[in-house]
Amino acid sequence: MKQCFFCSQDTKDVDYKDTELIRRFLTFQAKIVSAKRSGTCLKHQRRLSRAVKHSRFMAFLPYQP
Ligand SMILES: [Zn+2]
Repeated sequence: MKQCFFCSQDTKDVDYKDTELIRRFLTFQAKIVSAKRSGTCLKHQRRLSRAVKHSRFMAFLPYQP
């Protein structure tokens, strides 16, 4: 079983400005990779999705087509 990336990095919150990191958890269609596939725990998956929304709102990330 894969470990949660954010837990392993001791990351408490996901920085919406860190698009390089966030992009690693997006598919080529700019969708968030499911927690099952990325190994992200539910807590961090929620924070990741919030960061993605925030990042899109600030236009750091593209909206999905
Ligand atoms: Zn985690």
